[in-house]
Amino acid sequence: MHELSLAVSAVELCLENAKGKKVTKVSIEKGPFSGVDRHAFNFAWPEAIRNTLLSHAELELIENEGMLECHHCKHHFESNELITLCPKCNHFDLGIISGREFRVLSLEVEDVS
Ligand SMILES: [Zn+2]
Repeated sequence: MHELSLAVSAVELCLENAKGKKVTKVSIEKGPFSGVDRHAFNFAWPEAIRNTLLSHAELELIENEGMLECHHCKHHFESNELITLCPKCNHFDLGIISGREFRVLSLEVEDVS
């Protein structure tokens, strides 16, 4: 399950940026072609944050739309499916413009004053 190692690296990145502060919320964005399974990631997350400064952090998983390009007519369109047809010319020779991303978007830390 590579979702666990992804969760662990995301947590490591957060800890680096939190600089010792307690993290209250983490936002992660995920494209439909990232190869990351949402359910597996949600399952792995509590394991990854256990006994860290993130252990009480809320996880927000933002699912982005994917963008495809038709190699035939150069039309760009939103899709979460790779196996589809160009809505303009019905070709299936498509390339990915965006949707492979999987990254930590933002971090909220507790204000200790
Ligand atoms: Zn097309």
